[in-house]
Amino acid sequence: MNPEDLQSLPPREGRRAGAILGLAVGDALGATHEFCSPEEVPEGPLGMVGGGWLDLEPGEATDDTALTMAVLAGYEGGSLDLRRVRDEMLSWQDTDPKDIGNQTRKALDYLRVHPEALSLPEDPDAQGNGAVMRAASHGAKAGSAEEAVENAWIEAALTHPSWEARASGALVAALVANLIDGVRPEGALNASYALVEGRDEPGKHVRETLRPLDGYEHDPGGWTVYTTRLALLGLLDAPDFRPGLERVIRLGGDADTNGAVAGAVLGARFGVGSIPSEWLHDVRGREDLLHLL
Ligand SMILES: [Mg+2]
Repeated sequence: MNPEDLQSLPPREGRRAGAILGLAVGDALGATHEFCSPEEVPEGPLGMVGGGWLDLEPGEATDDTALTMAVLAGYEGGSLDLRRVRDEMLSWQDTDPKDIGNQTRKALDYLRVHPEALSLPEDPDAQGNGAVMRAASHGAKAGSAEEAVENAWIEAALTHPSWEARASGALVAALVANLIDGVRPEGALNASYALVEGRDEPGKHVRETLRPLDGYEHDPGGWTVYTTRLALLGLLDAPDFRPGLERVIRLGGDADTNGAVAGAVLGARFGVGSIPSEWLHDVRGREDLLHLL
């Protein structure tokens, strides 16, 4: 489906496509600026120019999009098949990807030698971005926001078995599901907190831990709590897809994952028709993502 045909999708389908293509677009745009300071990101509109520390081709996406495809493939039979997700992730690791997070590599090495395991042993330090970067897929594929929360919570522990990573993934999944259903952002966020807060633990409250950032603060780099809070601020604050996403990516830091998560929620809010057509045209993997959707 070319970018022009995407404009004519019915509204709900347009928001589903917007969530997943918004994720890939945010990944590919942000990867150019990963590990930059805000001052190092050039002024003017952001383009699909590739480069960055991974020396990417223009429009090339990274692990955020690849892992999202692994989760989407896990829904091919209709409901979530964790074994399929695990196998897809292991196959991706076999391709020697340009970028793979430390925790994700460690987890996949573990799953490879423990074929019966579908989660890692609980690890409170596993708070990297590896789970939240792929969580929007549950919001786009599960049958309801409730199911999206349940699936994201379980699936996050394939690689990131901490409360913070699971709660981040579950919240983003619920938010994407609610936005696709056409709920306005504030209402969608409130409904999503309500679905996740039953999983609060002593001293860990989703409404508090994952509240929107107060402002566009510098990125400490690759922390699931920061990336989620930044995406929530970007969502609530954005007049449209492009300015919302550009503001997030301009902070640098883990710009590809920040861009992926923000791109997913912005795409779910504004729909695929709001994504600039030159970005949709240039992003790699568009047809594969739509096929899995
Ligand atoms: Mg990445």
